[in-house]
Amino acid sequence: MNNEKIVVPGEPVCVIEEFTPKTGVVINSNGSVSSIYVGKPLFDFKRREVSITPVKNVETIRKGDYVVAEVKHVHERVAIASILGKIPTGPLKYPRTAVVLSRREKSIEDALGVGDILVGLVINTKNGMVTVDISPYNCGVLLSKCNTCGRILVKKVKELYCQRCRKTEKRKTLIDYGNTNKLLNYVGFAK
Ligand SMILES: [Zn+2]
Repeated sequence: MNNEKIVVPGEPVCVIEEFTPKTGVVINSNGSVSSIYVGKPLFDFKRREVSITPVKNVETIRKGDYVVAEVKHVHERVAIASILGKIPTGPLKYPRTAVVLSRREKSIEDALGVGDILVGLVINTKNGMVTVDISPYNCGVLLSKCNTCGRILVKKVKELYCQRCRKTEKRKTLIDYGNTNKLLNYVGFAK
């Protein structure tokens, strides 16, 4: 569990079977537990309890911002990513969860993969949930690793290629794909 993670009001933090809700949380009708603050979830693994500590001065993410995010899960139409930094201001103090979609590609699975670092445009922040689109020309995957061997994939015209496994993967890449100096500027480190 990432203790530095920030949740927003309404964002599920766990289900009631996992942790007993203490402070700063509400129980939803489906059995999920969500935050009532912008805050940090604290999981007490011994007592099986969850609380949220409110956090002040969380960097605001607005519609129209460009962000750098790491892909955590990929579903058919959307992906879930952790926002690491804003362009051009740099790393966020607390990573934020975002829903990533592509308004052009039919399937997000053809555009990115788990572990990818992407640049996206914030198109919505309704109810504190950030939605990021990677379809603009200046958005897409900045760095991607082979999901078999972990080697950084190289760009080949329209696809990415693992030189060790000799396989290609489909991605929507940025023009400056693989530019780790840029990544360093955006999020303070290269993965
Ligand atoms: Zn490989």
